[in-house]
Amino acid sequence: MPVGMATGWGSLLQDEQQLEELARQAVDRALAEGVLLRTSQAPSSSHVVSYAPFTLFPSPVPSALLEQAYAVQADFNLLVDAVSQNAVFLEQTLSSTIKRDSFTARLFDIHKQVLKEGIAQTVFLGLNRSDYMFQCNPDGSAALKQIEINTVSASFGGLASRTPAVHRHVLSVLGKTKEAAKILFNNPSKGLAMGIAKAWELYGSANAQVLLIAQEKERNIFDQRAIENELLARNIHVIRRRFEDVSEKGSLDQDRRLFMDGREIAVVYFRDGYMPGHYSLQNWEARLLLERSCAVKCPDIATQLAGTKKVQQELSRVGVLESFLPGQPEAVARLRATFAGLYSLDLGEEGDQAITKAIAAPSCFVLKPQREGGGNNLYGEEMVQALERLKDSEERASYILMEKIEPEPFRNCLLRPGSPARVIQCISELGIFGVYVREGKTLVMNKHVGHLLRTKAIEHADGGVAAGVAVLDNPYPV
Ligand code: ADP
Ligand code: MG
Repeated sequence: MPVGMATGWGSLLQDEQQLEELARQAVDRALAEGVLLRTSQAPSSSHVVSYAPFTLFPSPVPSALLEQAYAVQADFNLLVDAVSQNAVFLEQTLSSTIKRDSFTARLFDIHKQVLKEGIAQTVFLGLNRSDYMFQCNPDGSAALKQIEINTVSASFGGLASRTPAVHRHVLSVLGKTKEAAKILFNNPSKGLAMGIAKAWELYGSANAQVLLIAQEKERNIFDQRAIENELLARNIHVIRRRFEDVSEKGSLDQDRRLFMDGREIAVVYFRDGYMPGHYSLQNWEARLLLERSCAVKCPDIATQLAGTKKVQQELSRVGVLESFLPGQPEAVARLRATFAGLYSLDLGEEGDQAITKAIAAPSCFVLKPQREGGGNNLYGEEMVQALERLKDSEERASYILMEKIEPEPFRNCLLRPGSPARVIQCISELGIFGVYVREGKTLVMNKHVGHLLRTKAIEHADGGVAAGVAVLDNPYPV
């Protein structure tokens, strides 16, 4: 079914006057609900805030794909957790990459140091988000294909809890009560907080607190606050600190318990530390201190490494999923069904062939370095130039190639502070939030806790909401 046809926003998107009035109402509701960002002019202050960009209408998502994405989330949680515990696999997989990628190498160094000293933490907490696009098949049907899994600082669970009310409002204004009722309930921040609360409880010290690592310049603070608020409602206190504060005032005692400003820390939740630019020398030392502690890190360094694109690519090789999930052929099949084509660029014949294919058909591939946060991937002519340059160099092993997913575009109206409402051709990316907690060898929690839909103009190849490209949205099941 051509999903773009099925929603019926078509005629609504043509009446400009009506759109402007609807947009005003939608923006006011978004502000009232707390769909907020700090401004780029004053990112360290909440004195002046604005709404986080969003779509005027929810966007069509085939309900079968939504269900499929939810159904595979517990498998992805298990897989990430298993990869993070397999030091041999991580070392083999990342060995060529870390020769040429200093950021991944630095993370890996910390991983090695912690392993050598012995891992002090006994409770493990994963809060991740698996992202997908809907590949348009030749027969017009759509297939769920994973873009990546975020194992560190997966964001927008807080704001995504507040957008359903905005879209229900828009549809109600239009008298579309039945349609409004189809907007799904969503509350990822509550689920993420429940994971943190479980880890805190298992840590087992009533006075210990949660340390949230974030920058002072943080536009997305309300997203983080949503989780803090949920924790406080459970009487769990959160302190926000920067890496710099940790290096000044953080310490370990003899048992490697972590203290910050004299307070014991049960859980460290990173909303920072996933890009090279987040680290000074001092910050790397702070990260090492945190990793060495027995506090529950979310994520611990091995789990962060398990979320690299290189690991994603190696997991798609024949037999690898089976080795991580022995005796679970159904889980393996569910996971594999979501994999797009992924290709290693390590020196050798396999990599040479992938490069030749990508140069011959640039519109079918994406070139990805080991980076997070959007805006790092290369497409089209830029990708070809990079591949020509990298072809004979070891440096190419720090990238992977991926099949480019081509969803069917649809029309929606994007709302951004300071820009007129624009009706354009869009595509969406669906994220499912997953939470798991493990104590020693025992998994005590493994579940999905909600979703995030982000929508962007088709002309933007890359980038998320924080990067200023995509906007918040809700799935409209079709
Ligand atoms: P990051 O870690 O920077 O978020 P992603 O792998 O998620 O890296 O890529 C960033 C964006 O690029 C995605 O949100 C998506 O819009 C686009 N993108 C990534 N991979 C593909 C792909 N295989 N096909 C189409 N678009 C892609
Ligand atoms: Mg991404």
